[in-house]
Amino acid sequence: MLKVGLTTLGCKVNQCDSAALAENLQSAGFSLVPFSAFADAYVINTCTVTAFADFQARQLIRRALRKNPLARIIVTGCYAQTEPRTLAAIEGVACVVGNDHKHDIPELLSRPAPGSPRILADDIRRQRRFPYAPTAILTGRTRAFFKIQDGCDAFCSYCIVPFARGPSRSLPLSGVLDGARNFITQGFREIVLTGIHLGDYGRDLKPATSLTSALVGLLSQNPTARFRLSSIEPNEISDELLALSGHYRNLCPHLHIPLQSGDDDILKSMKRRYDTAFYRDLLDRVTRTWADAAIGIDVLVGFPGEGEKEFRHTVELLGKLPAAYLHIFPYSERPGTAALAIHPKVPEKIKKERAAILREVGAKKREAFARRFLGKTLPVLVEQTRDKITGLAKGFSHNYLPVLLDKSHASLVNTVVNVKIERFRDGKLTGRVLDE
Ligand code: SF4
Repeated sequence: MLKVGLTTLGCKVNQCDSAALAENLQSAGFSLVPFSAFADAYVINTCTVTAFADFQARQLIRRALRKNPLARIIVTGCYAQTEPRTLAAIEGVACVVGNDHKHDIPELLSRPAPGSPRILADDIRRQRRFPYAPTAILTGRTRAFFKIQDGCDAFCSYCIVPFARGPSRSLPLSGVLDGARNFITQGFREIVLTGIHLGDYGRDLKPATSLTSALVGLLSQNPTARFRLSSIEPNEISDELLALSGHYRNLCPHLHIPLQSGDDDILKSMKRRYDTAFYRDLLDRVTRTWADAAIGIDVLVGFPGEGEKEFRHTVELLGKLPAAYLHIFPYSERPGTAALAIHPKVPEKIKKERAAILREVGAKKREAFARRFLGKTLPVLVEQTRDKITGLAKGFSHNYLPVLLDKSHASLVNTVVNVKIERFRDGKLTGRVLDE
């Protein structure tokens, strides 16, 4: 039996792709081994969202070749899609497979290796099919990340993703409903709906549908499971979507809404489709409808043209926003994106300083949000693994707060329990389980 080592870089969507690929490899008769082990072939599922992600991919190729210099190295994913020739030119790479052809990898491995490196990547912008089977990354059998959408048509000026993932495509609604039911039957209590541009879900389907309609089906048909949304664009959070919070208790009060910059000129040159006034108003609406909602915010720091004034606008805006946490990304120049032509560039050192400032703002927001729940009761999905430092059982509340439980509750793993929150220590809440 041929041994295959598979590793993945990047976002949850890419990890979902790897989960599907792993399933396909196993059903095709390959034996999956850890990437660090000796294998006959290695598959590296890459990311290209930053220059560092590209560097990591090249490092992994070298690491695999050190383990077995005769192994077949297959490079796939977003870096493979955007720069197939660069990767095929690396000594030892047998095949570069674009995002669209990931499903061909088991068959490729069944055939004898060709003498020279092969590239299997088409123009992904022409792709219309939803790529890959509806499977999910499974986390300790409690949460399943379920990819229901892929691709993007927004072309934000800094982003390589539309070139790496192709146009927006959705899993048909019947597949979404069947897929969710399948995970729930397998025992998952939480499903995280995942996509590259999740708010675009359903627009490409015939007849067209929407994320809100898909959610109505999922929430009403599966009252015992809870559903969480991954990142969603600000201009795609409709009042109808927010109103679902009043009807369905199994929709997690948690929205991750990229802001990227708190300066309107920068937002314009990023080609984002909203301004700061819209964003502030949106967050007001979210908190008015959903008082306990955790709001996560992405911020891109050091975009070309971001001077002291523009950065200050971002810091000031973030200070006013009701965020539960921030994700800070230093801008990384990507070949082929419109932002390459925008000047002046921000020096790396300044980007790092600004990122550090924003991380501090984020840490304060995180603590303030967590402390709001001291003395309150939160529904927590208990995970299989324990907290590494304290050894206590742990889980996530519906509004995405990590919570440690007062004692070990092996029998509660994979159940949702009500927890009275009693303490905040070392960045985490601790609480007492009320119902066993
Ligand atoms: S919405 Fe913008 S940032 Fe997000 S994937 Fe699409 S192009 Fe990239």
